[in-house]
Amino acid sequence: QKFISGLSKTSSSFMGAITDLFAGRSKIDEDLYEELEEILIGADVGVTTTMELVERLRKEVKERKIKDPAELQPLLSEIIADMLEIEEKDSPIRMNPDGMTVILFVGVNGVGKTTTIGKLANRFKNEGKKVVLAAGDTFRAGAIEQLEVWGNRVGVDVIKHQAGADPAAVIYDGIQAAKSRKADVLLCDTAGRLQNKVNLMEELKKVHRVIQREIPNGPHEVLLVLDATTGQNALMQAKTFGEAVNVSGIVLTKLDGTAKGGIVIAISHELQVPVKLVGLGEKPDDLQDFDTTQFVHALFQ
Ligand code: GDP
Repeated sequence: QKFISGLSKTSSSFMGAITDLFAGRSKIDEDLYEELEEILIGADVGVTTTMELVERLRKEVKERKIKDPAELQPLLSEIIADMLEIEEKDSPIRMNPDGMTVILFVGVNGVGKTTTIGKLANRFKNEGKKVVLAAGDTFRAGAIEQLEVWGNRVGVDVIKHQAGADPAAVIYDGIQAAKSRKADVLLCDTAGRLQNKVNLMEELKKVHRVIQREIPNGPHEVLLVLDATTGQNALMQAKTFGEAVNVSGIVLTKLDGTAKGGIVIAISHELQVPVKLVGLGEKPDDLQDFDTTQFVHALFQ
């Protein structure tokens, strides 16, 4: 239900246009394919993914000898679902079976990183887990306090240094504190300034190395947070961060605020990294596991 209401902006524009297109045509021709391409690109599915999607649609139409445009809609849902299925499909957050789970969050400022950490802390807390947050964004004024606000709201400890401190040192302390408090989950925030990309990427690598050194098999997840409303820009960010750290999953925030939720398809298909969580609002429980079936269902509501 949350998925459907959270995606209503996308489904009404995206689906409205596609239904109109399929209903308004008497035959399947070049014109129809071209218009479909325009709608998909307009919904931020991205040029590469759109071309591939439409190509597959053409092929299926030919093979199955489909003549009626009305039959295209279920076929299109099927193809979209198939393109969203990557190896680790619908994967939930990977938890450490033998001890503390450490999750590293990366992403540009303003995408919703802190909010996501807060929401996830809330979820784990509600599951009865002990959670610690590490305030690794020591660069942005206010980032530490903002994480503390979430920590207080949810009722979990926040490990911090002063602004300007070495993020790797904060994360190191976070790990030690979480270990001694016997925490189940440690969520690590990081900086997201892109003014000096090279420095930021070096800093993230260092933080990553500290976790690897201190935690066997850690970090268990490296989640890249992307803002769905930034469209194709989100794809570019994913490429930049992907060069510095091995991103294991995507959190796509603010899907409730965009009519261009097609970006989900572009991201998971072009990056071959699973979308693990989606943000559908600002409240603590507005974070959902990503589910392909539900997503495609919500798109075509
Ligand atoms: P950060 O700089 O990446 O840590 O971003 P923040 O967590 O501070 O979020 C930036 C803004 O986006 C805040 O006003 C959040 O309330 C808002 N936000 C975050 N996630 C979502 C979401 O899923 N939906 C909506 N509508 N707003 C969100």
